[in-house]
Amino acid sequence: MEDRRKFSREQALIEAERCLYCYDAPCEKACPAHVPVPEFIQSVRTGNLKGARNIIREANPFIEICGVICPEFCSEQCIRGKIDTPINVRQLHKFVTDNTDPEENLEPAERTGQKVAIVGGGPAGLSCARELSRLGYKPVILEKDVVGGIPAQEIARTRLDEEIAGKETGFIVKHFVEEVKRAEVEFVGDLLKEYGAVFISTGLEKEQEPDIPGTDLEGVFFAREILKNVRKGQKSPAGRRVGVIGGGNVALETAAVLKAEDPGRDVEVIYRRGLKELKAFREEIEEAVERGVTFQFMAIPREIRGDAKVEGIMVTRARLSEPDESGRRRPEPVENSDFFIPLDTIIIAIGQKAGEKFPEIEKTAAGLIKVNDKLETNIPGVFAGGDMVNGACTVVESVRDGKKAAASIAEYLERGKA
Ligand code: SF4
Repeated sequence: MEDRRKFSREQALIEAERCLYCYDAPCEKACPAHVPVPEFIQSVRTGNLKGARNIIREANPFIEICGVICPEFCSEQCIRGKIDTPINVRQLHKFVTDNTDPEENLEPAERTGQKVAIVGGGPAGLSCARELSRLGYKPVILEKDVVGGIPAQEIARTRLDEEIAGKETGFIVKHFVEEVKRAEVEFVGDLLKEYGAVFISTGLEKEQEPDIPGTDLEGVFFAREILKNVRKGQKSPAGRRVGVIGGGNVALETAAVLKAEDPGRDVEVIYRRGLKELKAFREEIEEAVERGVTFQFMAIPREIRGDAKVEGIMVTRARLSEPDESGRRRPEPVENSDFFIPLDTIIIAIGQKAGEKFPEIEKTAAGLIKVNDKLETNIPGVFAGGDMVNGACTVVESVRDGKKAAASIAEYLERGKA
């Protein structure tokens, strides 16, 4: 299948020429990692791709991964969009990473400061580590699983070249992390005896389940376990008729991956709202459609049915209400509109929620960690960011939190010395 995410040299130059190099560029302000977008586009325009890589990687350690999966907060604010179409910043970014050496990265810094514990080695933790290291501190990552987090474990090979993503994570660990310890941390209190500060950047650990009967039947899986399996090169346990519940990137990606694995398999996405309301990226939707995934829109799951094994799902037709305070239109059931979709496999892809770790830290009603504007928790010296603070967030938002936490931690440790 043609890779729509790749620009040819000519396409990249034409796109770079369209940039207005805005003063006070809104694209840069919109980027959570504050990548200086017009500067790197200018480097692309002048053919200095190595320079463009330098500019992006200075702001964002996940340059390879974000070139593939960034939701483009920048393009949403692009001034050019008011004239014709916004600049396709992610594709220009991808053009830079595809045509420069992934080994080219920032110089490691000398580390003479205190050790800082980073609980969780995903994008927020690794970004914090890189920044702390560059500030002279010694970041130690405590990780129970694989360093790299969701991008390293769950994004399908079809989207992200595993070797390049692995190299990116490996580079950060090698040059900016003092030590990686395999450890599952439940309480942070004791860590402060050994480390100058702590940054909690664990992901959301529990799967969100739809509140319907039948989720315990054989043939019901969570999307993340399917994506993890496929990433490891294992065959998925899905059968011939698959329903994927959800409307985000993970749902669409899982559907596309399952269809790619067996093109003869029927894969249908079951979503409570309509096409316009899908939260997945346009490319994810297009790829799923091109692979032959079908959609059951305006369908509210009611009950997964079967005798020990899944036989199908009862759904109710929905209509959308007026937008509520959140601006989203809520799906409302249409009376007497229940219908049955025969299936042998159901994949749940409606997100994750927080677990019960870190009881000593103040949480929100949703179980997320409460922080102030410096990302500090109620315990002095303990900071938090990423999914455990925001709910599921993007890699680039995790980068933002990691960088911000590193600055706050450095300020906190400096204060201690004074
Ligand atoms: S807002 Fe758009 S046109 Fe302006 S600098 Fe950013 S990418 Fe270029």
